[in-house]
Amino acid sequence: MRVLVVEDEPVSRRMLSAAISRMGYDVVAAADGREAWDVLRAEQIGLVVTDWMMPEMDGLQLVEKIRGSELGRYVYVILLTSRSESRDAAEALEAGADDFIAKPWHRDELTARLTAGRRILDLQAALQEKNLLLERMTRVDGLTGIGNRRNFDEEFPRAFETARRFHRFLSVAMLDIDRFKAYNDRFGHEAGDIALRAVAAAIDETVRTADQSFRYGGEEFCCTFPETDEAGAGIVADRLRAAVERLGIVHPENCPWGVVTISVGVAALQPSTTVDPEDLLRAADQALYRAKAQGRNRTVALAPERLLAPR
Ligand code: GH3
Ligand code: MG
Ligand code: MG
Ligand code: MG
Repeated sequence: MRVLVVEDEPVSRRMLSAAISRMGYDVVAAADGREAWDVLRAEQIGLVVTDWMMPEMDGLQLVEKIRGSELGRYVYVILLTSRSESRDAAEALEAGADDFIAKPWHRDELTARLTAGRRILDLQAALQEKNLLLERMTRVDGLTGIGNRRNFDEEFPRAFETARRFHRFLSVAMLDIDRFKAYNDRFGHEAGDIALRAVAAAIDETVRTADQSFRYGGEEFCCTFPETDEAGAGIVADRLRAAVERLGIVHPENCPWGVVTISVGVAALQPSTTVDPEDLLRAADQALYRAKAQGRNRTVALAPERLLAPR
């Protein structure tokens, strides 16, 4: 872990740095609060041991600056002071210091206080990691492991805005498993879940890296294809359709194929038209509906403009 030592007096600075370095920490030194602040912004510092009285920016001002800023991580601050009255300690803690050490410092106390600081930082890091994980989990579908509806609802408007602002293509596909109710009825819900998982994996493996796939709900999926026009999206979508069929999951009721298949509806955003995200989705949904009506296990593309035009 990196420790920043802030002390204006050169000899003290060297002694303190050497002592902390000997405890196994990676030490960076600064001569006053201002210099320390520059280091904090440029480097990943976990812990700061700072003198109180310094020119330019003193220790207390440095603590206040750290607490008032967005460094994106918690910095543990130990204030060093020769002022040992209890109201000084109170002032230091109130300003946001985590701990303080009276000067002259003793090696054993310094070691113990740094260890305490490190323990807090480790806990902090573990907590942050857990929060990130939990946060990520809210966007992932529990059954299939791909993005869930919530994830789609966040990502799709973003992709749409980017495409529209930079006049790029964007296509979406709605995918729905064919006669899946009958599959469940015949093989049971648990087998249905396994099939769903396999279909999701096939879709997710088949889309290109820039594309995203989500479980839209039930046995429906949705894919977004940035920088892709209708013709391109049709090709990718049909590749997805073929990939699912190739899984060969036996489904006798799904005639004439006898295996699990999907129907796909595709819609493309033209770079300079005025459809909105809902129109694009509605067009893909309509296209899916047509794919079902035309016999299933097929891909149909529909331009949103066609959907909007008066019939
Ligand atoms: P279509 O070809 O017209 O899409 O027919 P379908 O039977 O697939 O359509 P329908 O909407 O009537 O039924 C969808 C079925 O998908 C209902 C339900 O049994 C099944 N299903 C939806 N979500 C899940 C799930 O999480 N697990 C399982 N096992 N089945 C699901
Ligand atoms: Mg000083
Ligand atoms: Mg459905
Ligand atoms: Mg279905």
